[in-house]
Amino acid sequence: MHVLLVEDDALVGSGIQSALEVEAFAVDRVATVAEAEAAMAALTTDLVVLDIGLPDGDGLALLRDWRAAGRRVPVLLLTARDAVVDRVTGLSAGGDDYLLKPFDLDELLARVKALLRRAAGFAAPVLTHGTIAFDPAGREVWRDGVAIDLTRRETALLERLLYAGASVVTNDQLKDSLYGFDAEIEGNALSVHIHNLRRKLGRDVVETVRGVGYRLGPERTDTPR
Ligand code: CA
Repeated sequence: MHVLLVEDDALVGSGIQSALEVEAFAVDRVATVAEAEAAMAALTTDLVVLDIGLPDGDGLALLRDWRAAGRRVPVLLLTARDAVVDRVTGLSAGGDDYLLKPFDLDELLARVKALLRRAAGFAAPVLTHGTIAFDPAGREVWRDGVAIDLTRRETALLERLLYAGASVVTNDQLKDSLYGFDAEIEGNALSVHIHNLRRKLGRDVVETVRGVGYRLGPERTDTPR
């Protein structure tokens, strides 16, 4: 899953970025309102971690603009300001959750995962689709209760599709989710990962939507051979 991280404090920003990357998130980090606007226009992100106090403007004003423009991406707000006042203004500006600095990185990771889960409509911590189950915390995948060994990229791909539910995920969205904005990706890398995912989890786990992208296959309760 892709996270757009908007944080002007280099130390805080690099700490959050590392913690997210260890958990297999693709992260693009920017430090200003202007850069955040440009990134949002250029890529598809699955979640935004947004510092409120930015050098060239107010993160809350930026968030209000995004919401007014119909952007529904989950947003986790960070602030060093007074908790009570900001909690109300932050959430009324369209923030989905809120962390007061300083915070534990474990706490941030837990909030990020909970927001993604909530946005996708999953109530339980383990995401399921038919016979397939995925635990975002341990990054483990099972089919019919048997653990399946997936690579980091294959797991990230499955995760993105699970969060999308029945919706089609475009090639560009998948690339952003897996690699972030600046990454150089070989032309057929995505189709190789899709191929391997089908080999390990069953041919119809992923449907190709020709010319558009991919989506999860039909939810099965038995595993075809
Ligand atoms: Ca700041």
